[in-house]
Amino acid sequence: MEINALVKTLTRLVGFDTVSSHSNIELIQWVAERLKALGFETMVQPGSETGKANLFATIGPADKPGVMLAGHSDVVPVAGQQWTSDPFVLTRRDDRLYGRGSADMKGFIACVLEMAPRFAAAKLVQPVHIALSYNEETNMDGMRVLTKYLAQSPVRPVACVIGEPTSMQVVVANKGAAIFNCRVQGFSVHSSLRDQGVSAVEVAAEVICYVNRLQERLLGAGRNDGFEFPHTSVHVGRIEGGTAHNITARECTFLLEIRALPGVRAAQLLEDIKNHCQQVILPPLLRISKECSIEFETIADTPGLDEGGNRELADVFMPLCGCRDPHRVSFGTEGGILQGIGVPTIVCGPGEIRVAHQPDEYVEISQLEACMAFLESLCKRLKTTPYH
Ligand SMILES: [Zn+2]
Repeated sequence: MEINALVKTLTRLVGFDTVSSHSNIELIQWVAERLKALGFETMVQPGSETGKANLFATIGPADKPGVMLAGHSDVVPVAGQQWTSDPFVLTRRDDRLYGRGSADMKGFIACVLEMAPRFAAAKLVQPVHIALSYNEETNMDGMRVLTKYLAQSPVRPVACVIGEPTSMQVVVANKGAAIFNCRVQGFSVHSSLRDQGVSAVEVAAEVICYVNRLQERLLGAGRNDGFEFPHTSVHVGRIEGGTAHNITARECTFLLEIRALPGVRAAQLLEDIKNHCQQVILPPLLRISKECSIEFETIADTPGLDEGGNRELADVFMPLCGCRDPHRVSFGTEGGILQGIGVPTIVCGPGEIRVAHQPDEYVEISQLEACMAFLESLCKRLKTTPYH
């Protein structure tokens, strides 16, 4: 394998500043042109917001259901992080390539692009789809928009590999990822008259205590030992509110995160919290002021990936990457969205998740080589025995 060509491709990909809050169009166009030149049928799908697009490209007999290789084109911000070298200039030190997105997950995309000419040259009996999404790191809208299209297509992919960094291990399940913003409105008075006011900070604390009790209940409500923390987790990671020590706070907001086990719906747990707010916490406050309220806004709610539908797929793919046992991870992926439209999905890609989102994110060259070997065997397989 020509490692220099792969490094060059990854350098180009990392060079596009596709932090989720920025546009990803340039990267998508660049990849689309490259694949089109190789004979891929390409579709650039406009996103749900301006400056965003997905790419869906196909090579091989398009009337047959194919194997989809999926990656997100966006990366997390670098603001406030201390990097040794420019995060958008891929930099080699020893056997590692440093840069934002090198592991999460432009390394995988680079491998897929390097394999693309070989997919194009092979007489595939089953097509390969290459899918790039946007906003995976925020609300996963890109994959939602793409799956809407795929669900209506005459032939839907028969399987999907998402190349998130798993050190090339096959992951068959991941937890859901849901984020809710809770906004509490209280009633401001001088704190010497506290019985006539409502402190939004104190109310938020009450809601959070309830969230903690909910976590305790969840510990007894079922477990999945495949995960490091084998339960659904609820967590409050950020809070803001109040103006001074002597004013009952008018406003307090906090972020509630729910990582639900596959099969558990975060929205259902949120209903439980909302009911408690409406029935227990709010009534006495409303007697002090009608202005009091507790509201929840959904920022993101992505279902988990349930291994039920994809163990068979894992059994076929594990030998291709030398993985013996399927793994489960606690970070969110787009897998659950694809499973939602009936596409069995596994997660397998180069690099380690622990360096993702960190300063000096890197991917080891040996990981990229392992990924290329995996794609090589996949290509071989799609020339002979199609995956059904
Ligand atoms: Zn990722």
